[in-house]
Amino acid sequence: MFEYQLKESTRRRSIAIKVTDNGIIVYAPKGLEKKWLHEWLMSKHSWVLAQQQKVPAVPVVQTPWHSQTLLVFGETYACFFGPEYPSKLCHSNRIVHVCVINPDDTKACRAALLSLLRIELESYVMGVLPVLAEKMDAQVSQVKFREYKSRWGSCTSNRALAFNTLLIGAKPSYIDYVIIHELAHCHVLAHNPEFWQLVFKYYGEYKDVVKWFREKGATLFITKEV
Ligand SMILES: [Zn+2]
Repeated sequence: MFEYQLKESTRRRSIAIKVTDNGIIVYAPKGLEKKWLHEWLMSKHSWVLAQQQKVPAVPVVQTPWHSQTLLVFGETYACFFGPEYPSKLCHSNRIVHVCVINPDDTKACRAALLSLLRIELESYVMGVLPVLAEKMDAQVSQVKFREYKSRWGSCTSNRALAFNTLLIGAKPSYIDYVIIHELAHCHVLAHNPEFWQLVFKYYGEYKDVVKWFREKGATLFITKEV
């Protein structure tokens, strides 16, 4: 059985099921027998499943200066902005301190945060990449880190790699996938079967990660709205 939120109303005459990106809402006449309702909903299970497939992934963008939280390596960290803190990311306490003179200046908050995250991602990637590059026999000419709107990494024909700073919010194993993906491009530039075969060789579960980035990748974005 699926989870749902029940909304009863005395004015309602019929039952309706609404599948939203925040879950399932069941509208029903007030006082309807729960056992009967449960059985009726059970009979709609496959329909609900089909509807859930259709709901597009919502881009739930992060606003750390409001929420005071931030995803780092797939975990939620507390995130503080202010002049009293030196910019620092502490993994043991899961805290991000961002030094900004005026914490109400969200543009400055974002810029300071992004530069801190870029350094953090660089340190992670540069720890893992040389080992993977050797394993995959990939010759890399350059590695850069920057923010991209719609890609997680890139590889040029000169084998210059770039990684999206926002990857820092993903689980390390997912970041590893992006590294392997770009390293595979050092051998095959196109996304052809040969390329995916190479990715598979070094990252067997790649399909799950591709799906995660497609459906949930937007949760790593940090809003630009001020
Ligand atoms: Zn690619």
